[in-house]
Amino acid sequence: MFSSIHEECGVFGVFGVEGAAGIVRTGLAYLQHRGQEGCGIAWSGRDWSVRLQKGLGLISEVFGGGVPDGGDSVCAIGHVRYGTSGGGEVENVQPFVFRRRFGDYATAHNGNIVNAGELANALSTRGSLLHSSSDSEVFGALFGECRGGALSSRLLGPVLNQIDGAFSLLVLTRDAMFACRDKYGLRPLSVGRLGNGYVAGSETCALYAVGARDVRDVRPGEIVRISAGGMESTQYSSFTQNAMCAMEYIYFARPDSDIEGINVHAFRKECGRALFRESPCGADMVIGVPDSGLSGAMGYSEAAGIPLEQGLIKNAYVARTFIQPTQEMRMNGVRMKLSPVGSLIKGKRVVVIDDSIVRGTTSRQLVRMLRDAGAAEIHMRITSPPLRYPCFYGVDISSRNELISAHRSTEEVCRFIGADSLAFISEDGLLQAGRRSGLCLACFSGKYPTDLYSHELE
Ligand code: AMP
Ligand code: SF4
Repeated sequence: MFSSIHEECGVFGVFGVEGAAGIVRTGLAYLQHRGQEGCGIAWSGRDWSVRLQKGLGLISEVFGGGVPDGGDSVCAIGHVRYGTSGGGEVENVQPFVFRRRFGDYATAHNGNIVNAGELANALSTRGSLLHSSSDSEVFGALFGECRGGALSSRLLGPVLNQIDGAFSLLVLTRDAMFACRDKYGLRPLSVGRLGNGYVAGSETCALYAVGARDVRDVRPGEIVRISAGGMESTQYSSFTQNAMCAMEYIYFARPDSDIEGINVHAFRKECGRALFRESPCGADMVIGVPDSGLSGAMGYSEAAGIPLEQGLIKNAYVARTFIQPTQEMRMNGVRMKLSPVGSLIKGKRVVVIDDSIVRGTTSRQLVRMLRDAGAAEIHMRITSPPLRYPCFYGVDISSRNELISAHRSTEEVCRFIGADSLAFISEDGLLQAGRRSGLCLACFSGKYPTDLYSHELE
């Protein structure tokens, strides 16, 4: 089984700065690539009550009318949600606001808990009625059980320690903001200073965009509590790992973000270089598939000494509605999204660099388009290893049956997409390119950093 609740989202928060909700809106706009289905902002004003505005659509659609709080907030957290088939109702859009005796609080998270079902069962035996085993409800219900006054790092720590899986979580209470990361360090989260206050967010590009300084990553297993008294760090778990999601570097994050000290563009470019060393190819030009294949293409071209050309143009204005969850709509989506530059490609041998092959739809369409445009040879080079296993940590890489490489060799995938040759970077090549020893590579290797509980691989 693969849960229908995928949370490959983005979070952003501001504490102690006038007009916090407006700053969160700007931060979320820089995280829009992490989720376009819905977004929301929860803020606390001068009366310390937590209020919420959320809706389906882009930041510009939901918050196009101006700052939700009229400029009155000093603390706010926000969320952008990635849409998958099903579960696209506004109720699933975060943040969630909980009203308890000890005060209101709001949560916004990115990631997926693997023991949500087990925690939901335990909660129900203790008398908490849950409507779903959605991560957000589990977080909210577990925090709601905390006794001993307002939420604090001391109270949150033992709760977070029970939660297995991936989460980068922001919690806003009446007088503090907490930024927490799972003990495996699967999803990114950074904090920084802004004026006399603080910011936190999924990617550094958003923090820098609002003017943050002194930016650092929240560590795996760390709670950063931000209040009027400043920033305090608590390590809630003595067990920690460095298993950052490799797909953050490969596909998700913006190239101008730094994750755990490594710039995403630089990582992708090095992968392109490594890919050339592992799988060289003679050709007339290197073409990157916009956007996430472009950095890798630069690296491949530099290492190979083959000119980089802009052989594929992305149509930036294709409506999101064209990119739908059905296979037929996806096929149309690729053609609408990308166009080959025929006069450049005609009669040429091209190396095409993309970041990943999931179902094979994009590559197959691309190869067909490039052949129709007259390419003499098409050699696909992919800056990730073959995706063979599902992700249980919040990335929409669904059941094995949908993954073209799950049960096929590289030669078989090459035949399916119709290329003259195909090569993927190796896992070692990926780690060396990123100069990283620890990364989650589970969707390539099947070696998951956590227990999988009741989740099954098929
Ligand atoms: P496919 O057509 O199914 O093979 O998808 C491959 C394309 O999807 C690649 O060009 C990637 O840029 C992109 N991609 C990779 N991982 C994901 C993901 N988890 N969600 C959405 N798109 C993805
Ligand atoms: Fe990222 Fe893959 Fe690990 Fe999921 S399984 S967290 S997509 S590396």
